[in-house]
Amino acid sequence: MATDVKQDAPGSESENTKVAHGQNEQRDQQAKDLHAHADSADTRAARVPRPEMVDEKSRIIWEYVIPVVAFHLLIPLMFTSYFFSWWGVLFLPIGNYIFTSMGIGAGYHRLLTHRGFDCPKWFEYTLATLGVCSLQDSPARWVLVHRIHHQHSDHQPDPHTPRVSAFWSHMGWMFIENRALSKISAYDRYCRDLMQDKYYMWLQKGINWVLVYAVHTIPFTIAGVIAGLMFASSTAGVVQITAQFFFWGVIMRTVYTWHVTWAINSAAHMWGYRNYETREDSRNNWIFALLTNGEGWHNNHHADPRSAQHGHRWWEVDVTYLSLAFLEKIGLISNLARPNNKALDRKAI
Ligand SMILES: [Zn+2]
Ligand SMILES: [Zn+2]
Repeated sequence: MATDVKQDAPGSESENTKVAHGQNEQRDQQAKDLHAHADSADTRAARVPRPEMVDEKSRIIWEYVIPVVAFHLLIPLMFTSYFFSWWGVLFLPIGNYIFTSMGIGAGYHRLLTHRGFDCPKWFEYTLATLGVCSLQDSPARWVLVHRIHHQHSDHQPDPHTPRVSAFWSHMGWMFIENRALSKISAYDRYCRDLMQDKYYMWLQKGINWVLVYAVHTIPFTIAGVIAGLMFASSTAGVVQITAQFFFWGVIMRTVYTWHVTWAINSAAHMWGYRNYETREDSRNNWIFALLTNGEGWHNNHHADPRSAQHGHRWWEVDVTYLSLAFLEKIGLISNLARPNNKALDRKAI
């Protein structure tokens, strides 16, 4: 699942860029584009073609396809009597909180993509590393894709709109090369802040981020051995408990995290209700809001992307935001961005 950043041809944007763009310019650009794609209700949900840079020259990305297929093929195995474990089932909500909420929701999404709060660098790296351990690509690549999604939501070249197809938005878009996502000029334009950071640059090189994912499986295996030594009466029993820890703690949890996160790109752009009139099809999808601890309040999020609070109504439970509010209270994070009610009132339906 390595990510290559290809050098652009001479004369490309990256070569000619003399002036530092910076975050503010990115935001200005995104604000301008916000109105460029304003839809009327009847054009909404119209089909759009795949992004321009996906064409007959695009290759199938086998380094994504093979692990995704392999992980899924292992799932039925986990319901056999040898691998099934109630500890494993219990680990799903715990693992979902640690990796989906803190790694992807708080780390990759609300912090790295939208800068919805400030925190010490060590804590930022901790959240980002939890994101890496969810096997959803490197931080810079995830942020690049997501910032393009916000800029062009449900219009070409949004990398994963369901207006292409439901399967495309859920997972298909990852399996075919989109050359727009591997140009160095795209990284320069959309996530220069991350590309200037040594840790994120290191993760971006070769398969380093995959190696970090591989290393994180070691503590799960060790925990399994310890639990086996404590509760099993034979070597075979130790091996079985270790296997259960690995399969449920790593494989099953990774697949779960994949699907609930991918569903924000697919389900939360197709099904649910809207609190705000936005320029795309985003929806508040309560099922995936609950399964992701808050990311599913996606129409709220598109209406006010910088806000780290995605649940806007009292019953729109956003556990990720509540966790961040707690961390703000104890002083670990600061400047937690909350909904801009004045601007939101103008978009309210
Ligand atoms: Zn979206
Ligand atoms: Zn976002």
